[in-house]
Amino acid sequence: MARYRGSVCRLCRREGIKLYLKGSRCETAKCAIEKRAYPPGQHGQGRKKFSEYGVQLREKQKVKRIYGLLEKQFRNYFHAADKKKGVTGENLLQNLELRMDNVVFRMGLAPSRSAARQLVRHRHFTVNGKKMDIPSYIVGQGDTISLNPNKLKKAPVINAIESIQGKTLPDWLSFDSDSKQGIVQALPTREHVTMPIEEQLIVELYSR
Ligand code: SF4
Repeated sequence: MARYRGSVCRLCRREGIKLYLKGSRCETAKCAIEKRAYPPGQHGQGRKKFSEYGVQLREKQKVKRIYGLLEKQFRNYFHAADKKKGVTGENLLQNLELRMDNVVFRMGLAPSRSAARQLVRHRHFTVNGKKMDIPSYIVGQGDTISLNPNKLKKAPVINAIESIQGKTLPDWLSFDSDSKQGIVQALPTREHVTMPIEEQLIVELYSR
């Protein structure tokens, strides 16, 4: 699957906010937003005003980058959300939150969504007892996500178990360190999305 391979800090600088794409580094003074809080490039410190279209475009780019998607993938999520009953923007965010890589990240088993994606790809998890290596897999309410018993001695899994200690999970997820099992207790709602996102702007962009 194609993915963005450039500097991720550049993406944060482009959007003007921390997108938390690099795990623990994002909380330190080494964060590029702390050092250079202006867009990258020669004219980064020049243009500041956006047109209405520009504002909508930036919002879409921001959300796409938070969840580590490419344009076509993101557009497919939007179309799926549009077809579903309910508010399109909220459906979109719910589907993004329910991606397997996001759930692993939100359970605290990986420092970033991209790290979670790699763990999923390398078959470190099972869903309802079956091996799962598809980061875009959409989990459902009641699904059980477990660490793959064959990989419990591998360093990434040991790190994952250590990293969850003392973490507070969103209330739609739970994880039991003894059984090494997490459960999707409920479907995430708009209030569970903690990043500053104005999803209505994305709906307006795709409705043009
Ligand atoms: Fe973004 Fe993290 Fe890089 Fe800071 S360190 S710019 S939050 S990816």
